[in-house]
Amino acid sequence: MAGAGSELVFAPLGGIGEIGMNLSIYGFGERTRSWLIVDCGVSFAAEEHLPGVDLILPDIRYLIQERRNIVGLVLTHAHEDHMGALIDLWPRLNVPIYATPFAAALFEARRLSEPGAPKIPVNVVPLGGHLQLGPFAIDFINVAHSIPEANALAICTPLGTVLHTGDWKIDPAPLVGAPTDQGKLSALGDQGVLALVGDSTNAIRDGRSPSETDVAKTLADLIRTAPARVAVTTFASHVGRIRAVADAAHAAEREVVVVGRAMERVIQVARETGYLDGVQDFREIKSYGYLPPDKVLALCTGSQGEPRAALARIAEDEHPEVTLTRGDRVIFSSRTIPGNEIAVSRVINGLVGQGVEVITDRSHLVHVSGHPRRAELMDMIGWVRPKILIPAHGEVLHLAEHAKLARAAGVSQVLVCRNGDLVRLAPGPAAIVDEVPAGRIYKDGALLVDAEARTVAARRRLSFAGIVSVALALSENGALVADAEIELIGIPETDTGGQSMADIAREAVDQAFETLPRPRRRDPNEVAEAVRRAVRGAIAERWSKKPICHVHVLTV
Ligand SMILES: [Zn+2]
Ligand SMILES: [Zn+2]
Repeated sequence: MAGAGSELVFAPLGGIGEIGMNLSIYGFGERTRSWLIVDCGVSFAAEEHLPGVDLILPDIRYLIQERRNIVGLVLTHAHEDHMGALIDLWPRLNVPIYATPFAAALFEARRLSEPGAPKIPVNVVPLGGHLQLGPFAIDFINVAHSIPEANALAICTPLGTVLHTGDWKIDPAPLVGAPTDQGKLSALGDQGVLALVGDSTNAIRDGRSPSETDVAKTLADLIRTAPARVAVTTFASHVGRIRAVADAAHAAEREVVVVGRAMERVIQVARETGYLDGVQDFREIKSYGYLPPDKVLALCTGSQGEPRAALARIAEDEHPEVTLTRGDRVIFSSRTIPGNEIAVSRVINGLVGQGVEVITDRSHLVHVSGHPRRAELMDMIGWVRPKILIPAHGEVLHLAEHAKLARAAGVSQVLVCRNGDLVRLAPGPAAIVDEVPAGRIYKDGALLVDAEARTVAARRRLSFAGIVSVALALSENGALVADAEIELIGIPETDTGGQSMADIAREAVDQAFETLPRPRRRDPNEVAEAVRRAVRGAIAERWSKKPICHVHVLTV
């Protein structure tokens, strides 16, 4: 039972005010709280802002500190923005993980694909299953989404029930898995729901999202009427879409060849877990070249223009096995995620340049989102009837729109929070009562670096204005022993007048040294500082940009 002073709290450590990096925690207790973690996802870095950074992970300092009180980590579904940080972060937590069969199997396959990844045990929860973790009684409720086995979690505590929706939509015919479990959600509403923490991704879009079945029809038409080869790209984990493409290919008497590691992995897991039952076997990539153009379909990774993925290589005519030519058709059964527009355009231009016809969701219903639009959000609020609603999974605009809609729907307490806010859900009115440490970590090669560290900022500066390195040898009485060694990296070779930048730097070095009063020339630090300023100033005068300048003074 709850002690008299017990509280139920919620804190997002990621995923609020951004799309990606989902990590929420629920706490229950008096002074010491038991913590339940929901999801542990990544964000993908935009190259120009974070050069060399592969992924962004949530900062879990607070969880490491509270590790003894964590009762478990539950995954709502297998998308990277919900489980992608686990391989890197789990060793620091070492807490039990719970997931449904498909998510557990896909996580294991992902882990095995990462060289040197530690063994990470996952406890498998059956679909619609139940868990008791410390004070939290958790029910898994099936919801439709763009990957098999998405779950909303009903988290029941002595102070009330929270519905954590995870990612969801309403789709009466989702192609794989069951539709969103309206019955269970309504029953939960009848019993009384304290708070709803819900997906806001599409809160600015009116109406309802079309069904996967509508998309499947369009794809079937486009594949049936294609005159020559067809390539379809979609999100690698979208098993429902993969199934739709495979069925359309089968109906058009085309063999399916899968191109791209990530998709092969998902397909293998989907076959093992039964989500591709009844779908024909796919052919090996080697057979692509032998099959007649109207008898083959390539199912490719790379819908976001990723330069190393299958479709980008095909567009550059650099794929060893798969080529496309004039008259072939490529279908982007996907949406371009904000930030990837340039990369996707590059791929499309490459394909069109080869005479390939490109079809996207701008002209045909070849993609639908896996997130609820406004009418669907209204349905969820109507089923669950929460006292409190906290918008999650969205940028600030999406959260604000979801909040507005919830207020209009009559939810009495609507609370918009930020990553790191600690929200008290009960007892008493919902309120932000404290803050917990939250932030970002960058995956930089094999290392994790703090986003606050200067590493990546320095790298960005280097990419913008290059570096000048100057080495000077100084005798004990303050004379230059040899000519300065100067190296310029990433700096234009000449100025507008054609004068060499290296010479300009050299003159600046000499002049700085000459103008420094003799006694001060014996101090290596003074010399270095004077030279650094002079070189940066001289180059900036010609270039209007200030490079980083390193001066090394050796005393000999
Ligand atoms: Zn998702
Ligand atoms: Zn998500």
